[in-house]
Parts: sequence; C-alpha cells; structure tokens
Amino acid sequence: MSELVILGASNAIPTLESETTHLAVCAGEQVVLVDCGTNPLVRLERAGLNVQNVSDLILTHFHPDHVSGLPLFLMDLWLVGRKTPLVIHGLAYTLDRAEQMMALFGWQDWPDFFPLSFRRVPEEELFPLLETPALRIFSSPVQHILPNIGLRFEFVREGKSAAYSSDTSPCPAVIRLAQQVDVLLHEASGLFRGHTSAAQAGQVAAEASARALYLVHHPSGRFLHNDPAQEARQTFAGPVILAQDGMRIPF
Ligand SMILES: [Zn+2]
Repeated sequence: MSELVILGASNAIPTLESETTHLAVCAGEQVVLVDCGTNPLVRLERAGLNVQNVSDLILTHFHPDHVSGLPLFLMDLWLVGRKTPLVIHGLAYTLDRAEQMMALFGWQDWPDFFPLSFRRVPEEELFPLLETPALRIFSSPVQHILPNIGLRFEFVREGKSAAYSSDTSPCPAVIRLAQQVDVLLHEASGLFRGHTSAAQAGQVAAEASARALYLVHHPSGRFLHNDPAQEARQTFAGPVILAQDGMRIPF
C-alpha cells in the first residue's frame, strides 16, 4: 500500500498539537522522508513506520524548521545500528550547508557510520529525483527566500499522484508540478514574503486542477486564530483539509 503520512503540519513554530512540517512518503516497504526540522524518530514510531525502511531523505531547503533535526536523526540511526545506506537529496545550496552542519559535529569520525551519500539535485523543473518500481519523485525550484524545491510524488502501482509545495509564494512552477494530482499539500503560512495564504493556496490548487487540497505549514495550536481551510474554500471548489500531525493519506 502507498500512503503519505503527515509527521508534522505546523509552520516554523511547533506547538503541543503540531510539529514543524515534515512527511513520510510510503510505497510498499520503502519510506522516503521529506524534511527534518525536528528529529523524526518519535513521529515515525508513533506512525508505526520502521525507521530502518527509510531509504532516502529529501531536504527541500536550508531553513532551520526544515533541516535542524538532521544531526540528531543521523546520530540516532547510527546508534540504533543502522548498516544500510541512506541517500540525502537536495539542491547544492542546501546540501553544502547540511554537510557543513554535520562537519561541525565531526560525524566523519563517528566509527562504523552507515553509508551516507549526498545527492545534489539540479535547479531544473520536473527533475526526476528518485525512481523505483513503486514510486517516482520529481522536483522543481519554487519561489522562497532562499533556493528551495517543491516535489511531485507518483505512486506507480496505484496510478495516483501528490505534490508538496514546500515553502513558496504562489508560483507557476508549483501549478505545473501539481497538474491533476490527487492530493496537493500546499503551505499556508500566510501573507509573508516567500509564503502563501490559504486563499492563495486554494487558487494554486484550482489552477493545477488538483483533486484535493491539504494545507500544511500553517499556524497551529494557540497561534491558529481563524480557519485556513474555510479561507481556501473561497478559491478552491474541491475538498480542503487542514492537515494535522499523524494524518495518513492512502493512495
Ligand atoms: Zn522556509
């Protein structure tokens, strides 16, 4: 079975209810993680996903709420005795800094560290980032404060698809990335530079002819003062769901 598990749905400020936005993309046994603003170990366990099945980690961009959990996550994988390889994907801008961050922890001297590789993704639209018999992932640069990628997931066996905007202002590249997807996960941080409001996210979903819209990277808990889903329904006629931590979207 393929599914998307929302490990966290909040913007950069986590609350009791919600962690910063990160995802698990599951196709059969394989698990691909998207972003690592916090250590995903506990959330994976809570979702019943085996961390040993995580084959790849995609870092969309180098903001703390998307990468700062990485050193502890890698250390924990090492401490639980991982032996299988892990591939980390991202733009050169992102991975150069991720490697510098790991270097500060001296990870290259950690004995018997599992095989870890950093695979740089070009700043190309619809770049085929990963392909297995069950799952295809494409990336496109989006419009944020620093270099960033959005993603499209194609679940081959089910003939279903999803897209994730990552942090971006409303952006034609996301509309192309999300063409006719079954599920668009779009950020709804609000009207800030390099971000999107819920109403704008609805408009992107409509222009992409997405079938359903899940709002992620939204204010949560005590910071949530209105209903972003209601706002997005003004511009998108399909189903709108305010994503919550632990939600599972089957394909
Ligand atoms: Zn960001």
